[in-house]
Amino acid sequence: MNERQRRYVLLEREGIVSLRNAGSVAHCWEQFAFVPRALEALRLLAAEDYAAIIISRQTWASKGQGSSKELDAITRRFLLQVALAEGHIAGVYYCRHRKEDECNCFAPAGLIARACLEHGFVLENTYFIGEKEIALEAAAAAGCHTLRIQRDAFLQPEMGGRKPLGVASNLYEAVEQVLATERVLKSMHASVLA
Ligand SMILES: [Zn+2]
Repeated sequence: MNERQRRYVLLEREGIVSLRNAGSVAHCWEQFAFVPRALEALRLLAAEDYAAIIISRQTWASKGQGSSKELDAITRRFLLQVALAEGHIAGVYYCRHRKEDECNCFAPAGLIARACLEHGFVLENTYFIGEKEIALEAAAAAGCHTLRIQRDAFLQPEMGGRKPLGVASNLYEAVEQVLATERVLKSMHASVLA
C-alpha cells in the first residue's frame, strides 16, 4: 500500500473521454471513439498516481439485457485501450435506468456516493470533470472540486474576459489544471509547515 493516499479524478464519459457519435452515445464498439488526447490525459493522471473513475448515465442500456451486455462489452474494450495506453481507470459507474424509474444514481450524486464508499476517497480531495451543469452542481454539492469542459473555452479570452477558473477546452487541458492546482496546494502547505 502506498503511504501517500491515492488521489481520484471523477470523469463524465460522453464528450469528456468518448466522442459523441453524431450527437449520440455509442451503442456498440464500432461507434466508440476517444476524444483527441483523452488517452494521453489518462496516462498523465496515472503517472502522477491518480486513479480515474467514470461516472456516466447510459439510459439506452435500460432497454433490456442485450443493450446492457453491449454496454459491458464496450466498457471492457475501452478499459483495455486505456490500460494499453498506460492509463488507470479504477472504476466505472453507470446509471442504466430510465427517467421514469426515478433512480437515485443521478444527478450523479448517487453514483459519486457509491464510488466514494467503494474506493474510500476523500470527496474534498477529489476532482470531478464534466460538462453537464446538473452533474457539476451535484459534484460540487458533494464536496468535489469541479472542472467544466467547454469546447469553445479557448475562444473566451477574445470575448473580452479571461477564461473563467475551472473551465477547460478538453480533458487533457483539465488534467493539466488539476495537476497545476495540486502543485500550488502542495507548495502552500509546505510553506505553512516551514
Ligand atoms: Zn440510475
